[in-house]
Amino acid sequence: MKLKRGYNQLENKVYWLINLRWLAIIGVIAAAFAAHDVFGILIRQDAIYYIAAFLACYNLVMLAIIKYIVWLDTQRTGMIKLLIDVQISIDLLALTALLHYSGGIENPFVLFFVFHMVIASILLSVRESYLHATLSVLLLSFLLIFEYKQIIPHYSITGNTGRNLHLNGTYIMGSIIALAVTLYFVVYMTSFITTQLKKQEQATRKANEQLKQKDHIKDEYVARLTHDIKGHLAAIQSCQEVLVKGYVGDLKGRQAEFAGRAHVRTKKLIQFVKILLRLTEMRLANNNIEMDVFSLTESLQNSLAAVRSKAEDKSITLSSNIEEDIEKIYGNQFSIEEVITNLLFNAVKYTSSDGNVEVRAKNHDDNVLVEIADSGIGIPEEELSRIFDEFYRASNAREVEKDGTGLGLSIAKQIIERHSGKIWVESKEGLGTTFRFTLPKAV
Ligand code: ADP
Repeated sequence: MKLKRGYNQLENKVYWLINLRWLAIIGVIAAAFAAHDVFGILIRQDAIYYIAAFLACYNLVMLAIIKYIVWLDTQRTGMIKLLIDVQISIDLLALTALLHYSGGIENPFVLFFVFHMVIASILLSVRESYLHATLSVLLLSFLLIFEYKQIIPHYSITGNTGRNLHLNGTYIMGSIIALAVTLYFVVYMTSFITTQLKKQEQATRKANEQLKQKDHIKDEYVARLTHDIKGHLAAIQSCQEVLVKGYVGDLKGRQAEFAGRAHVRTKKLIQFVKILLRLTEMRLANNNIEMDVFSLTESLQNSLAAVRSKAEDKSITLSSNIEEDIEKIYGNQFSIEEVITNLLFNAVKYTSSDGNVEVRAKNHDDNVLVEIADSGIGIPEEELSRIFDEFYRASNAREVEKDGTGLGLSIAKQIIERHSGKIWVESKEGLGTTFRFTLPKAV
């Protein structure tokens, strides 16, 4: 089943349906001829030929309509869906009429309703497919009830042997053919769909691989670029330091002010470039980081020491509650310390003077649980889910603190996840924030 080039998939479905209907029309004519003229079965052959002729005309009309819709070249999805809907409904009506003129309940080809349902499920939405299944049930029920009540005539194909169908060779052959055609069609369709799905899956996987490769190339490029920028910035910073510290003579008034400002800005830029470089290098390193067994307690103490003076500057009470028997961790000590320090710096940064920051750590099942809680500005609830995204800074943080990269938390998340841990946050705007992370104990 090849898709025509130049048409979108929906239009292809209509063409497919039309082609399938030509086959069905040929099948109907051949079956009516064989049943009547070869096996002498009492079907209303004339009526069946009329229905086949009607189907052929209506198929031509459908072909013309779809060609017209394609020619219009406007937004046509709704129109095409409607066209498919209408076609399947008319097909169901035609099948019911065909059954009526060829034995009604006696006709084993009643199984062909299954065909139509398979086609409907492929072409239509789930809801529409169920609607067509309901339509099939209703149509067949009306046919059988009307024949039963003798509102419409019943054209018996089994004649007198009606009650002894197992002795009617032609009927048995017809039943086997009907069942075989239905089963093979269902298998053909379902395996076709499965093959398509597998192909799509392979294509998605391939596209994913290519994306990863491109991402890697981009990371390498960014790493090289940031490395170069960092070098140049360091040189600029040294020159500025010479100026600011007065090694080449004292600067006067405005000169000193502007040189000082440039110096501060350069420092911030270097800081940003360093973080960016760290992030990119981490991505490039993938899972290849050096791991060893180390004491988390020691790392917590180191990080606390690193942030203490900043906390004191803001009169923030920095406390810790670290259980004594904290298990050792298997990982990269430098990276874990980086995470803790970063979380602590954030806690101090986003907490106003006289607030509190507390570090807690304890064993928790197979993990060690670390909590860094503050009484700071908190994070707006609707922004919590984005807080670990690269470059994301919450709206309130941007108001309080102009400087920030929005990269620290994303680095922290990557590091923790690479250690098979988890990191999450709980926060109430205006009341405070608690970051928690777990790390598996060293085995
Ligand atoms: P940065 O602090 O440089 O902006 P981070 O990646 O470290 O970047 O943090 C991302 C954002 O998460 C911050 O901009 C801030 O909105 C929010 N955030 C992080 N820690 C806290 C905290 N302790 N209290 C309030 N908001 C925080």
